[in-house]
Order: sequence, then C-alpha cells, then structure tokens
Amino acid sequence: MERIENNINNVVNNIRNACLKAGRNPDEVKLIAVTKTIDVDTINCALKTGITDIGENKVQEIIVKYDKIQYKPKWHLIGHLQTNKVKYIIDKVDLIHSLDSLRLAKEINKRAKRIERVMDVLIQINIADDEDKFGIGYDELDDFIKDMSEFENIRVQGLMTIVPYVKNSEEVRPYFREMKGIFDSLKNSNYNNINMNYLSMGMTNDYTVAVEEGSNMVRIGTGIFGQRDYSKK
Ligand SMILES: *Cc1c(COP(=O)(O)O)cnc(C)c1O
Repeated sequence: MERIENNINNVVNNIRNACLKAGRNPDEVKLIAVTKTIDVDTINCALKTGITDIGENKVQEIIVKYDKIQYKPKWHLIGHLQTNKVKYIIDKVDLIHSLDSLRLAKEINKRAKRIERVMDVLIQINIADDEDKFGIGYDELDDFIKDMSEFENIRVQGLMTIVPYVKNSEEVRPYFREMKGIFDSLKNSNYNNINMNYLSMGMTNDYTVAVEEGSNMVRIGTGIFGQRDYSKK
C-alpha cells in the first residue's frame, strides 16, 4: 500500500518536473495507472490514493475485474482490440486507445449504436513503422480520419502511440515530437467527429520524454505497481 503510494507520488512528481522543464501546466497531463496482471485488491489500493483512471490491455481482464473495482474509475482499453470482443466492453470502457482499423471502427460504431452511446476513441498510430506493432501508418492517416468522421457513434478524441522499447529514452524523442506535430496539425482541421483532445503516449520507460514533447496522457504500469508477474494469472 505504502509502496504504491510512494510510487504514484514519484510518478506525479516526475510528470510535474517534465512539465515545468517544457513550460507546460502539469494539470494538463492525465495519469493512467496500467493495471494489467495486477490483482483487484492492489488496484483498489491505488484508487484509494487518488488514481482516477485505469488502463487494461485485455478484454478478458476487464470482464473479470469490472464488478470488483471500487471508486468508479474511468476505464481505458489500451491494448489491441479484436473485432469479435467489442461487444463485451462497449458498455464498460470510457476510452478505447487502440483504434487501428476500419473494420474495428465499423464494429465499435455498430455496437455503440445498439446501446445508444457514442464511444470515445483514440487512433493508434504506428509512428515508428514497427512491424510488430499495431496502428495506422502515417501515410494512411488522412484517409482513415476521413472514414472516421462518417461514424455517428464514434467520436475520435485524439491519438495514441506505442514507441519501440529502448534503453535510452532520448532515442524515441523524435517519435514523440513527430506525434505532437501530427496532433497539432489535425487539431486545426475541421472534420466532423474528429477532436484532438488527448495525445496518449509515454510508458514507464519513456514518459518524462513524452511529456516534455507534449503528451497529455501517460500510461504507467511498472512505475506504479513494480515488475509484472505474468506467471500468476
Ligand atoms: C503495459 C502497457 C503500458 C504500461 O507499460 P509499463 O512499461 O509497465 O509502464 C502502457 N501502454 C500499453 C499499451 C501497455 O500495454
């Protein structure tokens, strides 16, 4: 409990310092605690200390944990979403960070319409053209945005990216900068349903650099909960 509280304070401080360094207001940056593989009691501890937003990367984990989580946090789906699983989370999550195909958008729109909600989503960009990562390529983005503006039950709220894991986070600074450039230019476009409110980038390894470059949503797992133990399940 105390360890988690310390870790959270630490992360919040680092975000604050990165903001000050970049001349930004620290209140602009939303901290999402990434709770994948973390048990419900531990998550509830984190929520007790003031975390308001949690991120999961698997539909199955959201379903298992959903009713046991207290304090009514906002739920973020941050991992790749399979089309056939949209129906399980459409009434549960507040923001889908991983919209990465037209097919997925169609399904989200259909399911959202059925329950009369408008689903907030971020478009995942594969900024490093990483073969192992999901996301829309920069060269496909314009067409994709135009397609998205047609969906009545989807509201694009911004962009998300996962950059390659590197030892020295300075190496990924150019990707974050490029993302901020795309974000800003889209902000000035005026397509229907396309808003640029959130730029979700930065994980434990690289969030201070991401914040310095303009991220306003960081997704932190290890930095709050420690190393994940994938063997437990
Ligand atoms: C696991 C995960 C994170 C958090 O990673 P850490 O390095 O533990 O902070 C962030 N974003 C996504 C999409 C993830 O899957």
